[in-house]
Amino acid sequence: MKLVKVDHLCKTYGTGEAQVEALKNASFTLEKGEFSAVIGESGSGKSTLLNCIGGLDTPTSGKVWLNGQDLFSMSEEKRTVFRRRNIGFVFQSFQLIPELNVEQNIIFPLLLDYQRPDQDAVDEILEVLGLTERRRHLPSQLSGGQQQRVAIARALVNRPKVLLLDEPLGALDLRLRKDMQNELKRIQQQLGITFIYVTHDQEEALAMSDTIVVMDQGKIQQIGTPTDIYNEPKNAFVADFIGESNILDGIMHQDYVVEFFNRKFKCLDKGFAPMEPVDVVIRPEDIEIVPPEKGQLRGTVTSVTFKGVHYD
Ligand code: ADP
Ligand code: MG
Repeated sequence: MKLVKVDHLCKTYGTGEAQVEALKNASFTLEKGEFSAVIGESGSGKSTLLNCIGGLDTPTSGKVWLNGQDLFSMSEEKRTVFRRRNIGFVFQSFQLIPELNVEQNIIFPLLLDYQRPDQDAVDEILEVLGLTERRRHLPSQLSGGQQQRVAIARALVNRPKVLLLDEPLGALDLRLRKDMQNELKRIQQQLGITFIYVTHDQEEALAMSDTIVVMDQGKIQQIGTPTDIYNEPKNAFVADFIGESNILDGIMHQDYVVEFFNRKFKCLDKGFAPMEPVDVVIRPEDIEIVPPEKGQLRGTVTSVTFKGVHYD
């Protein structure tokens, strides 16, 4: 059984002129323990998708199955309880209660749900997040990164089946984000919980996830492993959005031979009709600079930027 199943999910906000189709027919499944990233530009429907999966928002049509349960066929009361027990949320804003210390913030949602906090589970999650020494600190006595750890610990303390993270590192500076990326990946592997991680940062998505869901204008454009998405983008949008790429008009002469700029080149693709027009995607690392007599194309370097390990 798949842990998460999203089935033809649609969400429309507003009516008439103001109508927005935020989510169009999204379908996919995730396994237990899978780390998936949902990536797309601002307004592409990422948060809408996440909120529907988490039961915070109600889809206009379609279904969400979580651990074999149909989320939207339950009564609202039952869904609220189910959500608290099975789904964790982490947002960009930490939403900590300033008057409560670290440990109290972590157990607060359990108390809301009339659950008795299991002290061993609390101690363990403090340890996993590196917060043991800070358990009596107030949020105001913590750095931004530490506050986000508390929010993560709070979402994980009752071991949900799924953790939904909506741009969780967006408020942190670059250095701290990199550290937290590694940390989150470690935590996810240690606890074996399914993560659905929304980000607009493609590097973050490529580095962290088993599966990437690429969205544009409410539609899923491609689902695949990071290498699939990078090496075999399904369309020009995905190619352009993930990684750097040059997209040119070309003509497929035969399997593995494409023409552009009036030259023929070897390529990785097959199955096109003879002389079929195609979009050719060229990653910067695909280009080899060679002595003029060995080159196929001649170009002029117009600007050079030093980037540490390489020049752009
Ligand atoms: P993302 O998280 O990718 O930035 P969202 O899912 O927040 O995108 O939004 C997708 C689209 O739905 C946007 O056009 C947004 O303006 C619209 N939208 C989101 N929430 C609401 C809402 N509560 N009411 C009306 N429109 C909304
Ligand atoms: Mg969003």
